[in-house]
Amino acid sequence: MHAVLAGAGVGGLTAAAALSARGVRVTLVEREPALLEAGAGVQLSPNAVRVLRGLGLGDGLSAVAFAPEAAEVRDAATGRVLLSTALGEAAVARWGAPYLTVHRADLQQLLAETLAARGVIPRLGVAAAGLEQGAEGMRLILSDGGAIEGDIAVGCDGLRSAVRAALWGEGAPRYSGQIAWRALVPAERLLEGLIPPKVCVWLGPGRHFVHYPVRGGRLVNFVGAVERGRPGDESWTDRGDPAEALADFRGWPAPVLALLEAADEVWRWPLFERASLPAWRQGRVSLLGDAAHPMAPFLAQGAAMAIEDAEALARHLSAARRPDAGLAAYESERRPRTTRVQQLSARNAQLFHMPAPAARLAYRAARALDAAAGEASRLDWLYGWGR
Ligand SMILES: Cc1cc2nc3c(=O)[nH]c(=O)nc-3n(C[C@H](O)[C@H](O)[C@H](O)COP(=O)(O)OP(=O)(O)OC[C@H]3O[C@@H](n4cnc5c(N)ncnc54)[C@H](O)[C@@H]3O)c2cc1C
Repeated sequence: MHAVLAGAGVGGLTAAAALSARGVRVTLVEREPALLEAGAGVQLSPNAVRVLRGLGLGDGLSAVAFAPEAAEVRDAATGRVLLSTALGEAAVARWGAPYLTVHRADLQQLLAETLAARGVIPRLGVAAAGLEQGAEGMRLILSDGGAIEGDIAVGCDGLRSAVRAALWGEGAPRYSGQIAWRALVPAERLLEGLIPPKVCVWLGPGRHFVHYPVRGGRLVNFVGAVERGRPGDESWTDRGDPAEALADFRGWPAPVLALLEAADEVWRWPLFERASLPAWRQGRVSLLGDAAHPMAPFLAQGAAMAIEDAEALARHLSAARRPDAGLAAYESERRPRTTRVQQLSARNAQLFHMPAPAARLAYRAARALDAAAGEASRLDWLYGWGR
């Protein structure tokens, strides 16, 4: 079988690795002239790490990642811990794989090296521009006037997927009403001990702030989400003004202010959303990752879902007798789970920005659940996937 993938982000790279590991021939095209090094970190929960380890990335990940001890949600006004989830060894014991945080560029590099070792080199600087399908195959039409023929195609081309548009004719995504300030700060610029070895989420009305170490603790990643009117442009990676970011969190706790003050440059990422699709596939063409199910980043699961999709796609395609049946089985497995995660991510967008008393109540309920059913059992369905 020959699979043609559009988009070499986390989803496309992982899908290419998973498919080639099962003997599927892969062609991967990427619009950008180089694999993008987005200046940001990403949390990889155990469900994602398990897939990446299965693809042989375990040692590489251990070398570049950070394993946070816990994830803590705090009230920014009082500093009080609203919810704490043990990670580190507890994550391995509970979910069978570690919870890791990485620099996105490190993850992309590891995936690209894994692919290169299998002889798969992404074709860079060429975009998917259209599709043609027949009973026996499909053609992905490229921006340079060429085309690639294959048995199936999968759009891994992100939020503004050209493949999704070709299949389902949707327009632009909606602005969600929030922007995210993002940066990576060298740990050496920060007072020792100020940033705990944890994923920390600070909540306040209309905004929240997340930070965690990456790259073995040498860098600290942060994301500060703020409710805002429509931004003037729709760029993903717009350089922002550090003073404006700092002003958005005036009066917040010391770790938040220290990170904002230590950042040389910050990125301002407007956050977008789309409604869930009632179906992904048409014939021999389907979708994966953000192209299929873009989600608010507030459950830290967008990349993890793309990574899970990749494993499921390879598993179903290699087991199916016909390519379209493989794509149908992949969608039947993935759409319910990713829709649930999309919905929970959207709910967190509201929960995180509630007035303090309402947020305290909501987290009291989560703590009660932990006490009754065992700590963090509420996350078993999510992080224990594929165990
Ligand atoms: C602030 C923020 C924080 C986040 N934090 C986390 C986190 O901690 N954990 C987590 O799991 N997720 C997180 N996410 C979500 C995660 O970043 C995305 O869900 C993930 O990157 C999706 O991967 P993807 O490969 O589907 O899409 P993308 O990463 O968007 O990759 C799409 C690729 O396709 C290429 N492309 C686009 N159009 C075309 C075309 N026509 N032809 C060819 N190539 C094309 C693009 O250049 C790009 O390389 C976060 C998101 C945000 C915004």
